[in-house]
Amino acid sequence: MHHVTPLLGIVIIGLVLAFILGAIAHRLRLSPLIGYLLAGIVVGPFTPGYVAHQGLANELAELGIILLMFGVGLHFSVRDLLSVRRVAIPGAVVQIASATLLGWGLGELMGWSTEAGLMFGLSLSTASTVVLLRAVNERRLIHTERGRIAVGWLIVEDIAMVFSLVVIPAIVAGAGQGLGTAMLLTAAKVAVFVAFMLIVGRRFVPWMLHGIVHGGSRELFRLAVLAVALGVAAGAAMLFDVSFALGAFFAGMILAESPLSQRAAEETLPLRDAFAVLFFVSVGMLFDPSIVLEAPFALLATLFIIVIGKSFAAYGIVRLFGKTDRTALTIAASLAQIGEFSFILAALGSSLRILPDDARDLILAGAILSIMLNPAAFALVGWIVRERHLPPEEGEPAPAPPRWGHVVLVGHGRVGAMVAERLADAGKMAVIETEADVAPAQRNDGPHIIVGNAADPALLQEARLAEARALLVAIPDSFEAGQIVAQARKLNPRLLIVARAHHEDELEYLARHGADHVIMGEHEIARRMIELAGTG
Ligand code: AMP
Repeated sequence: MHHVTPLLGIVIIGLVLAFILGAIAHRLRLSPLIGYLLAGIVVGPFTPGYVAHQGLANELAELGIILLMFGVGLHFSVRDLLSVRRVAIPGAVVQIASATLLGWGLGELMGWSTEAGLMFGLSLSTASTVVLLRAVNERRLIHTERGRIAVGWLIVEDIAMVFSLVVIPAIVAGAGQGLGTAMLLTAAKVAVFVAFMLIVGRRFVPWMLHGIVHGGSRELFRLAVLAVALGVAAGAAMLFDVSFALGAFFAGMILAESPLSQRAAEETLPLRDAFAVLFFVSVGMLFDPSIVLEAPFALLATLFIIVIGKSFAAYGIVRLFGKTDRTALTIAASLAQIGEFSFILAALGSSLRILPDDARDLILAGAILSIMLNPAAFALVGWIVRERHLPPEEGEPAPAPPRWGHVVLVGHGRVGAMVAERLADAGKMAVIETEADVAPAQRNDGPHIIVGNAADPALLQEARLAEARALLVAIPDSFEAGQIVAQARKLNPRLLIVARAHHEDELEYLARHGADHVIMGEHEIARRMIELAGTG
């Protein structure tokens, strides 16, 4: 057998194993994240067999974080960031303070020193960028208010962490007056970086990318996007001492206002996803399962702080700012986990000899378990929203679903919204849409709106599919559409089912699952072009 070098080992074995376990998790209707983390545990040092190189895994994970933050920046304008500051800044501050206090309390019970307790609590206070962004992206929340608040909150936490990393060593060194100077210096560096990006970067980078696009080489454009994301992140880290993640975020943000941003985002997607998977593998590698047996109660208390304590603080403060229950619940769920910054702080605490080894192990175990539990937290929010019928627009009573002979529309995005508007005989229509902010408001004379995933048979029943005349599946993901079509066909054999596809093989797939008509964009474009050529 060929010798597998450490770098190849982590990339190949890490990705292959993550794929296998992720696919199994998906099959079992769990989040693939759990599979990725398990893959990390398998190649980690605490389980027998192959042991991957932790240092390399962490470096690859860092690339994932950079690309993710760049992607978020691309969807985020300066205006978005400023628009959520009223909630995000006090929210993050209160949450960090409450997590730190709770951690300190647990530290007292464990007999640690006050500094150890505070450091432990601080490590539990910041959510993982990767986990939060994945959750927000997966649920297409980035353009909704709650999505923006969650991301703005994350940015504030990141900035707070940049400060902690500077200030803590200064405090430990006992430099009383040095402390003020250190903080001022950090603030000045962050400010210079932000100003530089907004003034110079905002002009130069889009100008350069435009030049490349007009040159016509797709490969060079991809490379340019990647170079901007990584280059700015690294430059920020070296010159201004801000984190890689923050640097990449600003690199994305200066592109957000240029029309190229959508393309830039798409070009980095595949790489970003692959490296984000390696992030989870690298986290899994840190997990020492023996902590579960050695200190079960301390671990439970740590998890309690991360998942319950922090969520209550977040929920409370978001509500206090007059946001809806739904927004508060989503934000609480997004932040009910910890990740990379906690590891960095834990490592700093250990090297400064503030943090005992147990505390570090608890932080690592708390991180991996809270990341595993995070999809469940979102599922719980979804359940609460459905159980309590939290409407997209609060306060309006929902009319009863239509009976007999109505049309059920799945998806209210670019396609669905047009369909709903044209089929204005709306009393006879039900719309199922996963995102409350995308769904139209429920009106008395409008269609019946159901918020949730149409793949859930309970929702199809709620739309009275058995009595419906037609089902229009206007969602782009044909795999999910196939599930919906199959369920619908079972419920109502006479139903007219129309679905949407983007590739030839999807056409056949959807038809096999019971669709009567499958419409494909490219075919329609061609048909219309032929028509127009005929008239010309
Ligand atoms: P577009 O591609 O812009 O037409 O958007 C598709 C819309 O369908 C988005 O608003 C999604 O939130 C929504 N959507 C995607 N999957 C589902 C699903 N399984 N059930 C209901 N709505 C969905």
